[in-house]
Amino acid sequence: MITFLSGGTGTPKLLRGMRELLDEREIAVIVNTAEDTWLSGNHLSPDIDTVMYLFAGILDTNRWWGIRNDTYVTHDLLARLGIDEYIAVGDQDRAIHVARGEMLRGGMRLTETTQSLCRMLGIRATVLPMTDSPVTTYVRTPEGEMHFQEYWVKHRGDVAIDGVTRRFDEPPVATDDVIEAIEASDAVVIGPSNPVTSISPILECAGVREALRRQHVIAVSPFIGDAPISGPAAALMRVFGKEPSSVGTCGLYEDFVDIFIQDIRDPVDLEGALRLDTLMVNRGKSLDLAKSILTLIYGC
Ligand code: GDP
Repeated sequence: MITFLSGGTGTPKLLRGMRELLDEREIAVIVNTAEDTWLSGNHLSPDIDTVMYLFAGILDTNRWWGIRNDTYVTHDLLARLGIDEYIAVGDQDRAIHVARGEMLRGGMRLTETTQSLCRMLGIRATVLPMTDSPVTTYVRTPEGEMHFQEYWVKHRGDVAIDGVTRRFDEPPVATDDVIEAIEASDAVVIGPSNPVTSISPILECAGVREALRRQHVIAVSPFIGDAPISGPAAALMRVFGKEPSSVGTCGLYEDFVDIFIQDIRDPVDLEGALRLDTLMVNRGKSLDLAKSILTLIYGC
């Protein structure tokens, strides 16, 4: 089994290739939940949704979120009723959020709601929220703190930020399922997800770093030079006190990473890093990178 640490874009692109090469029952994905939010009474877990939809074969892989060919009847009617949701939630996508919200309100843990949704969607891979207790990423702006989703989706990242904080009532602890998945794996792969908003929240769950130090860990950089392939990772790395580059990313993982993969185009010199083509612009490219990583793990 291989365990992946994932956000909602970079690692899912790698998983797109992996699921063609591995029996999905041999894949576990530990997913960031620090971008979760309640919207119109329903529970969005954007990264879990993307990973679930990928394995269910229904993900919109043009946007890397939401369900392919979804409709927006409810979202549009809500707007006419004066409820202006800043995230355009599709009708089928919303059904998942409604179901999850109901299950959570009924007392189920996020891990159980995810298991249940995965079962109903016919998913054989193991999809694991990093923790069962709420933790949320906020960015600090001159006007105060803002939920990361609001910063990125509502304001499209066009806001000056000077810090990143995580809010929680109790410090997040990795679930037993998360630690067991890491321990039972042949290797752990950190795909090229945002180091600040997707991977660090997982690493901050008590127990994860220690478990990773005992494992063989391969990580893929989401940067080429000082720019990410997409998204706000550069600004976030700066306010997180890290260089926005492969060097800064590797620095965040230095106590446990065994193989660090940089893109062949990356001008940044990082001693000991392995160079591969990491630009997963289509299914074939995802497959190629997945094959190379499996060769590193299994040797053939
Ligand atoms: P989010 O939850 O939507 O922010 O998604 P992730 O955190 O999983 O992934 C975002 C990161 O993926 C960004 O920092 C991008 O630079 C990176 N990324 C997206 N596509 C690719 C790709 O094809 N190759 C690499 N190396 N990184 C990518």
